[in-house]
Amino acid sequence: MSESNVGGAAAKTVGERFRELYGAAPHGVWAAPGRVNLIGEHTDYNDGFVMPFALPHTAVAAVSRRDDGVLRLHSADVDAPVVELTADSLTPGTDKHWTAYPAGVVWALREAGHPVTGADIHLASTVPAGAGLSSSAALEVVVALALNDLYELGLRGWQLARLCQRAENVYVGAPVGIMDQTASACCESGHALFLDTRDLSQRQIPFDLAAEGMRLLVVDTQVEHSHSEGEYGKRRVGCEKGAALLGVDALRDVAHADLDEALARLGDEEEARRLVRHVVTENERVERVIALLESGDTRAIGPVLTAGHASLRDDFRVSCPELDLVVDTALASGALGARMTGGGFGGSAIVLTETTEAAAVTEAIRKTFTTAGFRTPRIFEAVPSAGARRLH
Ligand code: ADP
Ligand code: MG
Repeated sequence: MSESNVGGAAAKTVGERFRELYGAAPHGVWAAPGRVNLIGEHTDYNDGFVMPFALPHTAVAAVSRRDDGVLRLHSADVDAPVVELTADSLTPGTDKHWTAYPAGVVWALREAGHPVTGADIHLASTVPAGAGLSSSAALEVVVALALNDLYELGLRGWQLARLCQRAENVYVGAPVGIMDQTASACCESGHALFLDTRDLSQRQIPFDLAAEGMRLLVVDTQVEHSHSEGEYGKRRVGCEKGAALLGVDALRDVAHADLDEALARLGDEEEARRLVRHVVTENERVERVIALLESGDTRAIGPVLTAGHASLRDDFRVSCPELDLVVDTALASGALGARMTGGGFGGSAIVLTETTEAAAVTEAIRKTFTTAGFRTPRIFEAVPSAGARRLH
């Protein structure tokens, strides 16, 4: 994936390439970002709270509408010719390539009764794939937004997010929650998005670290989280079992104040106890982070992030040596807080640091990774950016 093609330059390049591929200018160009989750991990399939913000990295798509049932797909980031499909023969579970994401969106829109009769699509993305930064949701949402505009469907961001989630769950076959797509569709620049995954209500929380002399670094460990699917499934089933043992619809229904009692009721169900403890305390951490941000006590969110990491590492067990090393090194070199972000087993971690310490923290992480013989991590600053939008 190319490094920087956000905004106008990207729209131009993607539009020009579209013209080369398809022989005419696109009807429009759209962008949708990847995301980082500030806090609220593995809560979104427990009806709980999440708090992502959008990255400046985006998937940019040049798209034209077609009314002849043909769907043509091309990605600047995949070395393959244009793929041609027909809209009415799209079948869930049959496509094992990247094309399943955009095709799945067309399928989900049509299945929901929206009259989408084809499209020509060329896209390029600066969201690193497989790094836990949600390149897949960026891809889905940019296509969904383009089709929403071109077919004048009038769907809102949260509705597009649900259709994209359905595309990924059913068409691609990945049992993901609703966070990534909602973040890509609904985030606003300078804000984190508080999302209640039970009723999809959302609130924009001002989150401007630079103004307060802080930075949030993303450390992509370059460890692929590809083997994580089975483990993710196990955690989901485990959480459902925990909820069933406690007699609630979802772990969201266990109040933090009642946690000790709930754990006692689980007796020697050790696995369920660990999963329940993570989800219940994580929801409470989201609420605490919001309260701290809203009261202007931004530095105090650092230890809450770090506590979230400990919970994911020790109770939920979805971390890995590389992610733990980022967190330990960051804290030892003066960071305010750090945690893995995304599903785990690789991918990325986030580090909250004073602006004045950012360079030293970055250097310390690079150094320990070299010493440990790990891959060189990719470290960049995450500035809360805009959600999906039309560029042209
Ligand atoms: P994540 O969403 O965390 O980046 P996923 O495994 O959910 O990881 O999605 C990554 C997949 O999305 C890639 O394997 C590829 O199929 C698809 N993808 C992401 N970006 C692009 C792109 N620019 N072009 C084509 N496919 C992409
Ligand atoms: Mg994904």
